[in-house]
Amino acid sequence: MSDTNTGKQTALVYAECAEGSLRRVALEALGAARLLVGDGGSVHAVVVGGGASAAAALQTAAAELAARGAEVVHVVDDPALAGFAPEAYAAAIGAAVAAVQPSIIVLGHTAAGRELAPRVAAAVSGGHIADVTAVDVAAGGGAAAIFTRPLYAGKAFEQRRFLPGAPQVITVRPNNLPVAEPVAPGSEGTVAALAYSAPPLWTIVRDVVRKASGRIDLAEADIIVSGGRGVRSADGFAPLEELAAVVGGAVGASRGACDAGYCDYSLQIGQTGKTVTPKLYIACGISGAIQHLAGMSQSRVIVAINKDPEAPIFGVADYGIVGDLFEVVPLLTEQFRAL
Ligand code: FAD
Repeated sequence: MSDTNTGKQTALVYAECAEGSLRRVALEALGAARLLVGDGGSVHAVVVGGGASAAAALQTAAAELAARGAEVVHVVDDPALAGFAPEAYAAAIGAAVAAVQPSIIVLGHTAAGRELAPRVAAAVSGGHIADVTAVDVAAGGGAAAIFTRPLYAGKAFEQRRFLPGAPQVITVRPNNLPVAEPVAPGSEGTVAALAYSAPPLWTIVRDVVRKASGRIDLAEADIIVSGGRGVRSADGFAPLEELAAVVGGAVGASRGACDAGYCDYSLQIGQTGKTVTPKLYIACGISGAIQHLAGMSQSRVIVAINKDPEAPIFGVADYGIVGDLFEVVPLLTEQFRAL
């Protein structure tokens, strides 16, 4: 908790790992936590996992967090945490909360973070602000900090702050806040094992079926090449995949393309799909329905390729190319390859 005499804040970051590696949003959450507590405050982190290959991965993740400003990284390593079970993961974070007594708890606004944050907030009887895209500490941290989050599918933004004294739980949207920079050599934090007691589970994960293996995570991709019904077939995604490979990006899709069976629903971006905020979003053969814009309109730069000059997507695009995607996309690929 914050020290009432000194006002010193303590934050705890849930540092999410995926496929044995720290997710970039975990470093963004760490950056937000460091900003919120300020120079005099302290930031702890917790990494959670289990199973045969988890120990080394958790230690690597913990070392990275310690090198980027986490004073203590708590490692909860237990076989019961091998698969994502919300009750168990929330209990592991709860063990860290009990050890650290933070006034601020920061998670990534990922599928797991969205599941865990309300549980954590309820457990600490705290407030919860979800999907934060900006943090303003000009007037101070703690209850003075102002959090910005999008509303109405990105059509408006609201600014919120917490009541004084209430524990704060926030989730930060991937790709919006700067990652925590490394601290000076010699001032890295420490890593400590943390015990927790496994709660009874209402559900268990029996198997995980991977739908989009080998692809860059859409939520964290810097560049997304996205296809709509205009790609016309599953094969029509090939030029988009080639462009994405050349620019180091991920492939996404509209629901139109998913519904037509051209690609898997795991690629769907929009109101009922994933929300993304890459640095560059290239929409190919996507009309720009409001439900699609809901998931991508906050992208830093939007390029639209569509043969219909009246397509609504041009209304949100920074750069518009009126033309046939099957001509334009290979030309772009060629140009990027030549760079
Ligand atoms: P279309 O609207 O058919 O557009 C295809 C575009 O491709 C056209 O603009 C056309 O001019 C262009 N085109 C065709 N051929 C070419 C070519 N060769 N070169 C260049 N351009 C070409 N949609 C989502 O995307 N995500 C969501 O999460 C989502 N959630 C929804 C939730 C609800 C409750 C509802 C009702 C709808 C939702 N939708 C969602 C669907 C949405 O309303 C649209 O139907 C969908 O986004 C349309 O997909 P599209 O742009 O690919 O297809």
